[in-house]
Amino acid sequence: MAVVMKGIDVVNAMKEKMVREVEELKQKGINPCLAIVRVGSKPDDLSYERGAIKRCEGIGITCRVFEYDQEISQQELVKEIKNINDDKEIHGILLFRPLPKHLNEDEIKYLVSPEKDMDCMNPINAAKVFAGDSSGFAPCTPEAVIEVLDHNKIPIEGSRVVIIGRSMVVGKPLSMLLLKRNATITICHTKTKNLEETCRNADILIAAAGKARMVTGAFVSEGQVVIDVGINVDAAGNLCGDVDYDEVSKIAGYVTPVPGGVGTVTTSVLAKHVIRAASKG
Ligand code: NAD
Repeated sequence: MAVVMKGIDVVNAMKEKMVREVEELKQKGINPCLAIVRVGSKPDDLSYERGAIKRCEGIGITCRVFEYDQEISQQELVKEIKNINDDKEIHGILLFRPLPKHLNEDEIKYLVSPEKDMDCMNPINAAKVFAGDSSGFAPCTPEAVIEVLDHNKIPIEGSRVVIIGRSMVVGKPLSMLLLKRNATITICHTKTKNLEETCRNADILIAAAGKARMVTGAFVSEGQVVIDVGINVDAAGNLCGDVDYDEVSKIAGYVTPVPGGVGTVTTSVLAKHVIRAASKG
């Protein structure tokens, strides 16, 4: 049976270090603060917000929620975000996306300055990730995958990594973070031929397709490291990943569960980003 790489173990290890860092900042008179900006009240956003607040406050980071009506105009939201961005007491900003359809996200994403942009919304941060420049902020989920691998001492350098999914939220930035760590990357998508065979040839297989339990035993080889980024609801209404956990855990060497895997670590990476932003003053 595969070793289960639980998110909570990574979270606890990261927490110890972050609590110390926050204490040091507070001794210097810096109070790390995250602004959470939410338009409307989608259940997924609210659930992530609760998790983020719990994680950040548990470390000593202050969270301020800026909630706006679903019908807010572009002009009003622009004004609000500019004010939040200019607030010297706020070190990091997390803005829930996608925004309602009537708002122009392309304008909004440039408003949060790259130094306060905690989840790689600003294209300047995305460009830095693609340029291998670690001075920017990578998106939290791909970075959480790296934290899981590192915590479990999975070698990245020289490894063959196959990623299923090429979105700008997970697949593409994750491929760049792993490339920076000298892995050899294959990115798969809906048009990939011989998907199962390609996946079986990986040392590390990462599923970020958003398809419930699509990674069956046929995708996996003996001893492989399998990371499941997917968060799906199956036909029975249960939360599940992209990986068929029961089948895959009998073959793989290491596997992350859903829930309780990568998703759990994402808010710790968010907290890490806030501390980094606050440290830069
Ligand atoms: P997306 O829909 O934007 O992208 C999915 C990608 O997977 C696409 O590139 C598509 O080509 C590929 N794909 C889909 N079906 C495929 C198939 N059958 N074969 C091969 N490739 C296929 O999704 P996303 O935003 O990247 O999210 C992916 C998953 O990760 C979702 O389940 C999402 O809920 C989850 N997610 C989790 C976290 C977290 O914190 N753990 C954060 C973001 C997203």
